[in-house]
Amino acid sequence: MQSSANAKLIKAEAERLGFMGCGISKADFLEPEARNLEQWLNHGYQGDMAWMANHFDKRVNPRKLVDGAKSVVSVLLNYYPEKKQNADAPQISKYAYGTDYHFVIKDKLKALLHFINQNIGEVGGRAFVDSAPVLDRAWAQRSGLGWIGKHTLLINQKAGSFFFIGELIIDLELEPDHPTTEHCGTCTRCIDACPTGAIVQENLVDANKCISYLTIEYKKELPAAFQNQMEGWAFGCDICQDVCPWNRFSAPTKEPAFTADERILKNDWADWQEITEEVFKEVFKNSAVKRTKFEGFTRNIKFLKK
Ligand code: SF4
Ligand code: SF4
Repeated sequence: MQSSANAKLIKAEAERLGFMGCGISKADFLEPEARNLEQWLNHGYQGDMAWMANHFDKRVNPRKLVDGAKSVVSVLLNYYPEKKQNADAPQISKYAYGTDYHFVIKDKLKALLHFINQNIGEVGGRAFVDSAPVLDRAWAQRSGLGWIGKHTLLINQKAGSFFFIGELIIDLELEPDHPTTEHCGTCTRCIDACPTGAIVQENLVDANKCISYLTIEYKKELPAAFQNQMEGWAFGCDICQDVCPWNRFSAPTKEPAFTADERILKNDWADWQEITEEVFKEVFKNSAVKRTKFEGFTRNIKFLKK
C-alpha cells in the first residue's frame, strides 16, 4: 500500500535528520482531549496563560489549521544533556541548556517537509513546535510514541521523557500507527516529589502551583507562599522527570545545538547572584532562558533561599 510505503520513507528520513522517534496519526478531531482541555481551562489551571484558551477549535481539530489535513507526523528530539549543571547553584531546566529548541526542531521539520515534497509529491502542510494551537503530547501519544504519565508529560518506554515534541500536519494520507499502552502502573513518584503539590491528581497539573510556570510564564512578583518550596529552581523545574523511573533509560543527546555553554554548567550561587544584564544576554543569547528576560531571571534567583 502506498500510504504504508510513504510512512516508512518519512520515518527513515526523520531518523536521518536526528529525530529519536517518529509516529503517524490520522488528523482527526481530538476527542476525548477536547473535553479534558475544556475542563482544565474551566478550573483555571492555566493560570495567567490566557493564550491556552485561545484557538480552542484549532487545538482540537487539525483540519482547522491545515486545509485538507489528513495526517499528523509527530517527532521526538532528545535533549538529555551529557553534562549536568553544578548542583550547588540555582537550577535551570535541562531543556534550556543549549540553543532554543524552537529553531532547531523547526529547521529539521522544514527539511522533512521538503524531503516529502521532493520524494513523494506535492504535499501541503505546516510545521509546529510547542505552538499554542497544537496539543503535541496528544498527537505523539496517538501515534504510538509513548503514553502521557501522571505528571502529564509524554513518556517513551525506551527513552524516558527528556525530549521535545514537534509535528507536521500534512494533507497526505499515511498509514497511522497505534497508541501504546500506559506504564505508570501504581507508581506515584512524580506526585510525591512535586514540592508545590502542583500535580493535583493523576494526569492533572495546576499550572498556578507549578514551578515551571511560576519561573517562566508568571510575570508578577512570585507569591510568598512558594518561598520555601522552589528547591533551587530558577528557570523551569525537572523534579517530576528526574524522579521518574523511566528516565533511567535517558541517553545523552547527539544534537550539537543542545550543548550547554560552560558557564551554565559551572557557575555557582555567587556567579548567578551577581549576573549582569550584559552577561545574561551573552550566556543565554540562543537559549530559551531569554524568555524570562533578565528581570525575570534575576527575580527568580533572588526569590530562592540558599
Ligand atoms: S515541574 Fe516541578 S513543580 Fe511542576 S509539576 Fe513537575 S515537579 Fe511539580
Ligand atoms: S514518576 Fe511514576 S507515576 Fe510519575 S510519570 Fe513516572 S512512572 Fe508515571
